[in-house]
Amino acid sequence: MKKIMELSNGVSMPQLGFGVFQIPTHEDAKKATLQAIKAGYRLIDTAAAYMNERAVGEAIKESGVPREDLFITTKLWVQDMGYEATQKAIDHSLARLDLDYLDLYLIHQPLNDVYGSWRAMEDAYDAGKLKAIGVANFENDRLQDLMINNRIKPMVNQIELHPFHAQFKRVQWLQEQGIVAEAWGPFAEGKQQIFSNPIIKKIAQSHEKTTGQVILRWLTQRGIVVIPKSVHEERIVENFAITDFELTALEMDMMSTLDQKQSLFGDMHDPETVVTLEKMHLDYDER
Ligand code: NAP
Repeated sequence: MKKIMELSNGVSMPQLGFGVFQIPTHEDAKKATLQAIKAGYRLIDTAAAYMNERAVGEAIKESGVPREDLFITTKLWVQDMGYEATQKAIDHSLARLDLDYLDLYLIHQPLNDVYGSWRAMEDAYDAGKLKAIGVANFENDRLQDLMINNRIKPMVNQIELHPFHAQFKRVQWLQEQGIVAEAWGPFAEGKQQIFSNPIIKKIAQSHEKTTGQVILRWLTQRGIVVIPKSVHEERIVENFAITDFELTALEMDMMSTLDQKQSLFGDMHDPETVVTLEKMHLDYDER
């Protein structure tokens, strides 16, 4: 793994970061973020829709780590799409995080007025509020269309990536375009007993590592950014310790045999999923 990825605009992004999705309380989100920063993580991945930007902002302040040493990502939710709504959403996220710039800002879902939002993000990028801009959950064809019709090319696409959904072709195309692929759900959120999978276990035993570490190593050796989430300090530390071993070509191939070639998190192409997401009106300050 590289440790630091260079985005297409020259910005440096850590290859291993910390995700804060689905942490139920403000206190727990703050505590986990603080533990992650203490363990050495410098990339924190939040979103307006996770309703914990304030907790992350407080942890950043309390950590004492200089702002310029951190890489903070947040995301634009579906209800804020469109030029003017996006301008406001950026400012609101900055206020909740108590920051004056974001290292990376992503469109969370490829829905609603993507083009209006992208133009607002381009302008905020020019103004220095956003150091890099990108998308999440975009299929390559949507990304291609976005690139053809806009000035600034997305620097990152954050997508579902784990051993059960390896997405080789999709990642290859992104990498050919100079777009960094970032894995969400690198552990498939623990589905299908991933942490006790016999193939991953066998590889882990031969390196005296855990299955979680092998999964993260497999993704990072593919040139992918990872943002595992945990609320347990020992796991937060464990997930960060993946630079002192390397998977062989054979082990990389063994991991690839686990690919089921489909999402474990529902069908984004189902119109009902679109209705559900578009109707999801969130109060970002709820927690
Ligand atoms: P994940 O990182 O794949 O899995 C998290 C789960 O694994 C939690 O249940 C956690 O439990 C457990 N876990 C973590 N480390 C472990 C270890 N070493 N051993 C055993 N269990 C372990 O799931 P995720 O949070 O969905 O994905 C990561 C990040 O991606 C999110 O936090 C978020 O930032 C981002 N994301 C983005 C999108 C998007 O649409 N853009 C969607 C989903 C996620 P404990 O917490 O109890 O330890």
